[in-house]
Amino acid sequence: MNKQLNKRQRINYFLMNLVSFASIFLILGVIVFQLVQTSIYQSVDNDLERLATDQKFIQHQLMKKGQLQNQSPLLGKLDAPPPNNFQQQVILWSADGKILNETELGSRLYDFQALKLSTDDLNKITNVQTKDSNDRSLQFRSIILPTDGQKDIAYIQLLVNTDPIKGTVERFKQILIICMIIFGLLSIGLSYFLSKWFMKPILISWKKQQEFVENASHELRTPLAIIQAKLEKLFTKPNHTIIEESETIALSLDEVQRLSQLTSDLLLLARSDSNSLTLEKTPVKINHFLNTLLLPYQELAVAEEKQFTIDLGEEQQLIFDKKRIHQLLIIILDNALKYTASGERIIVFSTVKNGEWIIKISDTGIGIPDDKKAAVFERFYRGEESRNRKTGGNGIGLAIAKWIVDEHQGKIELTDNTPKGTTVTLRFPVK
Ligand code: ATP
Ligand code: MG
Repeated sequence: MNKQLNKRQRINYFLMNLVSFASIFLILGVIVFQLVQTSIYQSVDNDLERLATDQKFIQHQLMKKGQLQNQSPLLGKLDAPPPNNFQQQVILWSADGKILNETELGSRLYDFQALKLSTDDLNKITNVQTKDSNDRSLQFRSIILPTDGQKDIAYIQLLVNTDPIKGTVERFKQILIICMIIFGLLSIGLSYFLSKWFMKPILISWKKQQEFVENASHELRTPLAIIQAKLEKLFTKPNHTIIEESETIALSLDEVQRLSQLTSDLLLLARSDSNSLTLEKTPVKINHFLNTLLLPYQELAVAEEKQFTIDLGEEQQLIFDKKRIHQLLIIILDNALKYTASGERIIVFSTVKNGEWIIKISDTGIGIPDDKKAAVFERFYRGEESRNRKTGGNGIGLAIAKWIVDEHQGKIELTDNTPKGTTVTLRFPVK
């Protein structure tokens, strides 16, 4: 791929990753912060609500002021938690807005000197802000309850100081921001790594594609050049009869045939790459299928003075794509015949065993060196010796074979035959 394009693509990936990570962290941070904040304040409000509805607690407050002595049978021990902890305050108001429990408030009274009675939101939890004696701002959640107006007490106000909570929330916010910065930095690194990682398979497949196109056009050019040369030659002899030029015409026809085979092979490979081919599986009686397929090859082998043995197991009905398996076996038989000399031997063996359909095609031909056994499945790969042979070939037979085997979830294996030659073993799972 063009280097600049590659770089631009990588930067795109990098930015895309970074933006995704950053937004995920940001959204997560905001949600966590909101949840923590509301749940902390919620617990304060719950406390206030609980106290406001706790009659024992309210009467205890009023009694402390000496107002309701001997009036309530409820007075006695409290079963709620000690009501006046440090953060909670109770203020008793007279109807004209005077604090009645100054003595009980003691030094805390200074905190409430600036506090005014507001009867707008009775029985509702509200925010209250006031200033202490040092002019520092104080925040409270508060609820004002009307009393039944006995003696002087008109309202009882419950307050919870939220300044310490605010500090906790602030600290939590700071920690969260620091975490987000750390994760932000981490995500820059991760995005860089991922963009590199993402590009790798794209580059590999791009390179493969380019190689494929180059090889394919190279393979297509050779027969085309031959046909062109032959046709031009025909033009130089306009008076010759077809009989006189039959060899040239026959050669051109051969090349046309080769070209047509090659293009259909290439088309098949291209379609397999784009996953646009689907198998058409049908139940097939394997021995009948193999016999029909092998017969012409047996005749061909006999004509070439080669031994051809067929060894089939019990007849079974299996489900596979008949057309593709036919194509696969032809590719392998074609190789077996192509790479054996006359007098040599080919054995085809088939059996269904341990949930597998096993087909072995052995030949006593030229064999494949161990270091080339993997390479032969590559597209356009042809062995040294096969190149030098007259028998044609494009080096895509086994690439197609491998694809067909994979599509059937099978396995293809190349091993050495004894004393020489190649054994191709095909295994297909039987459902
Ligand atoms: P074609 O595309 O016409 O099949 P090809 O036979 O050269 O051309 P493949 O069938 O893919 O291509 O095989 C690739 C190479 O593997 C061959 O060129 C040959 O070198 C080697 N090969 C395959 N089968 C055999 C075999 N039975 N014996 C020896 N060599 C083999
Ligand atoms: Mg072949």
